[in-house]
Amino acid sequence: MKHNFGAGPCILPAKVLDQAADAVRDFNGIGLSILEISHRTPEFEAVINETQDLVRSLLGVPADYSVLFLQGGASTQFSMLAMNFLQQGKKAAYLDSGFFSLKAIKEALFFGEVNVIASSKDKKYDYVPVGYQIPADAAYFHYCSNNTIEGTEMFSHPATAVPVICDMSSDIFSRVINVADFDLIYAGAQKNMGPAGMTLVLIKNSLLENLGDEIASMSDYRIYRDNNSMFNTPPVFSIYVAMLNLRWLKEKGGVAKQEIENIAKSTLLYQEIDRNTLFYGLSNPVDRSRMNVTFKMYDQELEAAFLDFAVSNGIVGIKGFPTAGGFRVSLYNALPISSVEVLVKSMQDFEAKLLNQKVSLENKVRV
Ligand code: PMP
Repeated sequence: MKHNFGAGPCILPAKVLDQAADAVRDFNGIGLSILEISHRTPEFEAVINETQDLVRSLLGVPADYSVLFLQGGASTQFSMLAMNFLQQGKKAAYLDSGFFSLKAIKEALFFGEVNVIASSKDKKYDYVPVGYQIPADAAYFHYCSNNTIEGTEMFSHPATAVPVICDMSSDIFSRVINVADFDLIYAGAQKNMGPAGMTLVLIKNSLLENLGDEIASMSDYRIYRDNNSMFNTPPVFSIYVAMLNLRWLKEKGGVAKQEIENIAKSTLLYQEIDRNTLFYGLSNPVDRSRMNVTFKMYDQELEAAFLDFAVSNGIVGIKGFPTAGGFRVSLYNALPISSVEVLVKSMQDFEAKLLNQKVSLENKVRV
């Protein structure tokens, strides 16, 4: 058995994989695969509508918001949102809290002015900036709620009258949010929603009033809203598997119940990192992410050996992002707490093994 701690695409529930595999062979007993039916069929329309309903009910999306399914990943949203909302002469306010928020800033610069109102780059993004002001004349305020690579998470943002846009790619559906606190939320699907290929956008309809006319169709949120996300062929299979996954989450008790589990999983792992004499956490304790836990070993030369040891226990996907090094353990919704227990035990066993080696070496020297 594998314990999949990968950062995304990531673990999906076994039940969802089984159902998806069945639908690849024969979708709902119609004698055709989900991969070979038109998105214009009543069968697929039922899928997209149910997926939207599940998003609405699981997140409590207010009626005056649209639920859109787009392609191009969260990275396309970096430029698309600026294309829609950063009109000439306007400036947008960005929080620079990590690798992906910096990417969002770079893309927005193609369309207008960006005011980076705070940054944690000075300390390799190991904390989330606080105490900044959002200028009242900003076109919007953009931030990333969970910094997937650095392992920090933001559970709130300063109150502001400026429209708030949030990249929730790696923590959406992991905790209760108040959608009404945001004007636009976007998230690549490949963590807590489903397989890669689809991007979820929740958008307050009033944000789409008074947009300019010079937005190419495939980048215009209004086109997706007016065509039920089917202006062109949508990512049919990704939407279908997301529907199965959101059904699974609903059956489990929904986001509030999942949040309790996610707190338990991350607490268990952080407690071991703090207790174990070999490891230390990388992010500021008050900003620690529940989804992506980053840590290193005091003796970096031991990291390859620990990785091998972990692999021998069925643990996969814990190597840190190439520029960050160390370890990054992702604890997305589908990962059971029993997998975290296996990882914690591996950290304890590795520590004990080293201690025993040290003692026997000391004994040998004494003899
Ligand atoms: N934002 C965040 C927070 C992410 O974690 C990622 C990818 N892991 C992205 C944006 C980019 O997403 P995509 O690969 O779907 O473009």
